[in-house]
Amino acid sequence: MKNIIVFTCCVFFLMHNFFNGLNAQNIALVLHGGAGNVTKENIPGSLEVQYREVMTKALNLGYDILKKGGSSLEAVQAVIHIMEDSPLFNAGKGAVFTNAGTNELDAAVMDGATLKAGAVSGVRHIKNPIDAAIAVMSNSQHVLLYGEGAEEFAKSQGIIMVDSSYFFTQKRYDQLKKVQEKEREGQGFNNTQHPDFKFGTVGAVALDQQGNIFVGTSTGGMTNKRFGRIGDTPIIGAGTYANNSTCGLSATGHGEFFMRAVVTHDISALMEYKGLSIQQAADMVIHEKLLKMGGEGGVVGLDTKGNIMISFNSAGMFRGYIGKDDQPVVLIFKDK
Ligand code: ASP
Repeated sequence: MKNIIVFTCCVFFLMHNFFNGLNAQNIALVLHGGAGNVTKENIPGSLEVQYREVMTKALNLGYDILKKGGSSLEAVQAVIHIMEDSPLFNAGKGAVFTNAGTNELDAAVMDGATLKAGAVSGVRHIKNPIDAAIAVMSNSQHVLLYGEGAEEFAKSQGIIMVDSSYFFTQKRYDQLKKVQEKEREGQGFNNTQHPDFKFGTVGAVALDQQGNIFVGTSTGGMTNKRFGRIGDTPIIGAGTYANNSTCGLSATGHGEFFMRAVVTHDISALMEYKGLSIQQAADMVIHEKLLKMGGEGGVVGLDTKGNIMISFNSAGMFRGYIGKDDQPVVLIFKDK
C-alpha cells in the first residue's frame, strides 16, 4: 500500500512539473518602439546604445514577470511603463507635438482570452496612458474614451495625472519646428526620406503560463498631426488586437493607412479563416496590402504557441523579443 502511495505521489509530482515545464516554455514576449527611417546613418552610436538598453531592460522585466507566473497583462503593463517613462520613445514622456504645440496621447489594450479591450485617445495629463486604457477595459462598460472624459475617468481610477508641461521635451519640440518649416516649404509631415521621420510608438505583446495573450500599444501619434486627430493605436483591429484563438499584435506606422487597412485584425483573420501562420499573415498585410496603399510601418506579435513575428516595410524598426531560448534579442536596423 505504502509503495502505491509513494508511486502515485511521484507520478503526480512528475506530471505537475512536466505540464508546468511545458507552460513555462511557452511564455513569450515581443515589443516595438516604433518604425520608420531608422538607419545607422540616422541614429548616432550613443543613442543606439540607449535605445538598446531601455528595450533590453523592458524585455527582461516583462519576461521575469511571465516566468514567475504573472499574467500577460502585468507583463505588458510593466514593459510599456518603462518605454512610456523614457524620453526616447514617442509615448508617455517622449510624446510628439501636434500642430498646435500640444501633446495628445493615445493608448489601447486588448485581452486575447476575453476579447475585452480598452483605449484612451487625445489625453494630455495622464502620465501613463496604458494604465488608463487598462482601467477602461477593466472598470468601464466602454472600449474607447476620448479627451476630458477619459481624463476624468482616469482620475476617478486613481491613475497618476501630470501637468501637460511634463510632456515637453526639447528634442520633440525641435522636431515639430523642423517639420512645420518643411511644411511651409511644401513638404508634408509624411516626408519618409527625412532622417527625423521615425514613428516612435511603443507596443508589447505577451503570452503567459496560462496561455493567455495580452497586447498594449501607446503613442503620442505623429509629429505635427492636426490637434484632435486620432491615430490607429487606440482603434481596436487597426493598431492593436489580440485573440487567444489566433494571436496578439501591436502596430506602428502611418496611422491613417493602418486604420484603412485594418492591419491587426486583418492579420488575425488571415490566420483564423485561411490558416496562415502569423508570419505569413503579417507579411501579406504589411508587404502587400499596406505597401500597395502607400502605408509605411510594421507590426510585432506572437501566436498561442509563442511563435514570435516581426514584419515591417520601413527602413528599420526598434524591436525586441524573448522567445523559446530565454535570451533577449534587440534589433533596430533592417537586420540587426
Ligand atoms: N501609428 C501611430 C499613429 O499614427 C504613430 C506611430 O506608430 O508612431 O498615431
